[in-house]
Amino acid sequence: MHGSCARCLRFGLLEEHHPTDRRDGKPLDPDLVEWLCPTCHDAETTAQRVLGIELPCDPYDTPGDIARRLRCVSVTLGLTVAGLFAALGAGVHPLVAIGGLVALAVALVRVLQRWADLLDTHIQGAGA
Ligand SMILES: [Zn+2]
Repeated sequence: MHGSCARCLRFGLLEEHHPTDRRDGKPLDPDLVEWLCPTCHDAETTAQRVLGIELPCDPYDTPGDIARRLRCVSVTLGLTVAGLFAALGAGVHPLVAIGGLVALAVALVRVLQRWADLLDTHIQGAGA
């Protein structure tokens, strides 16, 4: 797919990026997707690796896995905000520059609610 990278806004080949990764080839959080150029995609996966964020492992949807996913999203948000400021500094119109951040926020509304529900399930199970 070709289009504008959600991070750097450059036009070209885009890769589908799922910040919380995949398991058995399927995204753990299908709603949470970004379309990034290969450079930005590589930068994000490298940042996760440098920060010690591990790939998903069994069992998933546990409190520990949800903590891992939150760390993944913190990297994504940090890089998205950095990309926004870089775009603004390069003279990109603010409404264009903020597009990636808005798309990420919309996806996070659904994903964060689901993670909160998963944590509630664990909390209720621990109290039973
Ligand atoms: Zn990019």
